[in-house]
Amino acid sequence: PAASRPLVAGNWKMNGMRHAGAELLAMVEGYDSALAARVDLLVCPPATLLAQFAATAAETGIAIGAQDCHSATAGAFTGDLSAEMLADAGASHVIVGHSERRTLHQESDALVKAKVEAAWRAGLVAIVCVGESEAERRSGAALEVVAAQIRGSVPQGARGDRLIVAYEPIWAIGTGLVPTVADVEDMHGTIRRVLGEVSGEAAAMRLLYGGSVKPENCDALLSARDVDGALVGGASLKAADFLAIANIY
Ligand code: PEP
Repeated sequence: PAASRPLVAGNWKMNGMRHAGAELLAMVEGYDSALAARVDLLVCPPATLLAQFAATAAETGIAIGAQDCHSATAGAFTGDLSAEMLADAGASHVIVGHSERRTLHQESDALVKAKVEAAWRAGLVAIVCVGESEAERRSGAALEVVAAQIRGSVPQGARGDRLIVAYEPIWAIGTGLVPTVADVEDMHGTIRRVLGEVSGEAAAMRLLYGGSVKPENCDALLSARDVDGALVGGASLKAADFLAIANIY
């Protein structure tokens, strides 16, 4: 890994009722001082659980994040949540531009960039997701597609302490399929080089791999060059799996 401390982040997506607080408590228990010395943990529950989770995780070292934000501060945007509201509920991070939002909510690179700026305005760390489709991978366009997403979604002057990039090939999300280590290394190297065009701190930025990361396959993926951690979907819902992934560090 290039960054000083790896990060294992969990994206719960639209999963989790209040009783899932028990799973977070198990994560808190498993995040002992030996593990905390090696790796950062972040849990991104649905927004309904943010305040509850932030209260449970306070002073445990586990950070709590949101899964999306609106670009505006407040106003007539029914159903949306501003970055300021998420910070007020106890979030320190927010995921933006997840492929499910880019696809199902037609989010453009320009909108994702506005959301990153909103996150920074509210004092949140933005986790920008990028990744190619299966057709783009097959046609050999993956590197250029992701480079264009980075150029379009990451604001100029991004700082290493406020921006994290997650590379999530769409065809690997929730499918059990994963790219080869060589492909991940190629992609992460490209992402870091393109980040260098917008930021002087690209070398220290954390680049996460995401897409079907599980305890059984995470070793090789997370040991790859230029991989500074993972964004984990399905396997982040269970404390045992999430902690097993973190424990490879
Ligand atoms: C995700 O959607 O961020 C993700 C990585 O999902 P999964 O781990 O379930 O593939």
